[in-house]
Amino acid sequence: MPTGDAQRTWFPDMIETLRARWNVGLAFAELIELRDELDTMLHHIRAERHIRPPLIKCLQCGHVGEAAEPDVTVRAMILSVGRFGMVSAEEAKKLEERWAAYRKQNGLDLYGKAAERAAAGVPACAHSNLSG
Ligand SMILES: [Zn+2]
Repeated sequence: MPTGDAQRTWFPDMIETLRARWNVGLAFAELIELRDELDTMLHHIRAERHIRPPLIKCLQCGHVGEAAEPDVTVRAMILSVGRFGMVSAEEAKKLEERWAAYRKQNGLDLYGKAAERAAAGVPACAHSNLSG
C-alpha cells in the first residue's frame, strides 16, 4: 500500500467522476446525490484495495484501534471542486458558504442527510465502558 492511502479520501477515479458530473448549476439536492455516489466509490475503492484506516490511540481512554474510515462530506466535495480547479477558489468559497447556510436552514448533517441529533462537539468515545 503506498504511504498516505490509509487516510486518503480522494482517489483519481473519484476526481474524474467529480469532474465529469460537476457543473455550477447543480442544486444542493443534486450535490448531495453526487456526494453519495463519491462516498460509495471511496468505500468501494478502499475495500477493493484492502486499505485500512491507520491505528490511532484514543485520546479519551487510551484504546489503540483503527481510526474511523474517511468519508466524503458535501463540504469536502466543494473544497475539492476548488482544489482541482473546476471552479475558482473564490467560487468554491462562495459555494461553501451557501452550502453551510443551506445545511443549517434544513437541519442537515455533514453528508446532507437530515440530522438525527444536534451534532455538537466531540463524538463520544465508542469504547469507553468505565461505568459498567
Ligand atoms: Zn476511547
